[in-house]
Amino acid sequence: MSRSVLVTGGNRGIGLAIARELAAGGDDVAVTYRSGEPPEGLLGVRCDITDTAQVDAAFKEVEEAQGPVEVLVANAGVTKDQLLALMSEDDFSSVLDTNLTGSFRVAKRAVRGMMRKRFGRIVLISSVVGLLGSGGQANYAASKAGLVGFGRSLARELGSRNITVNVVAPGFIETDMTAALPEDRQAEIKKNVPLGRLGSTDDIAKTVSFLAGPGGGYVTGAVIPVDGGLGMGH
Ligand code: NDP
Repeated sequence: MSRSVLVTGGNRGIGLAIARELAAGGDDVAVTYRSGEPPEGLLGVRCDITDTAQVDAAFKEVEEAQGPVEVLVANAGVTKDQLLALMSEDDFSSVLDTNLTGSFRVAKRAVRGMMRKRFGRIVLISSVVGLLGSGGQANYAASKAGLVGFGRSLARELGSRNITVNVVAPGFIETDMTAALPEDRQAEIKKNVPLGRLGSTDDIAKTVSFLAGPGGGYVTGAVIPVDGGLGMGH
């Protein structure tokens, strides 16, 4: 089984692990990147998902190289943490623009081809924080909670075309994003995780691979927590 896959923000962290996992399963995998070099062995397309024209150009490049996108993983995301009283409007809207509107831009562009093909798998990478809330992350949590309503609406719109849309909500995963947290904060997080450890990027990749693969064919509109039990299923 070889499908045309696009993973946004697939040049590092969770996105790269997802891209490698799907490529190992035999798919043709493209990743977006903004600067530097794309990872070896994957098709890199330069794209900032806050720019609709760049999104369109990236899809055209992927379509030419490996055909219309059949599996889309909207993974690219940013944080700009701040307490509400100190959060600027730009801190709020720029995080929404990347995490939520960015996912809208790529999903909208991807469904064209998927509807024609009557096949598609869309996986949106949210966060446990979107469901539990998190002090100092009102912008990030709002963007990640928004993905749930967005994804479930798409699941309803697109189900009759054999397109599934699911949301994965990772807990705390070992990446650049969490490495930036102070050590005492990391220890506190581990105390609240029933499995007692941070997750690995592989933990997320295997779940996405399941949803994108034949095992996930009858799963749509779901929010799958991959968080070591932190959110107890939420
Ligand atoms: P990283 O910070 O390691 O990587 C973020 C990725 O997103 C990079 O590839 C980055 O590209 C890309 N990106 C950011 N902004 C844009 C943009 N405007 N256009 C295109 N690409 C962009 O993050 P993680 O791997 O940790 O996180 C991946 C996803 O998982 C995110 O959506 C995050 O919110 C979510 N998540 C992460 C958790 C964690 O514990 N790490 C927990 C829960 C959710 P570039 O290299 O060009 O900057």
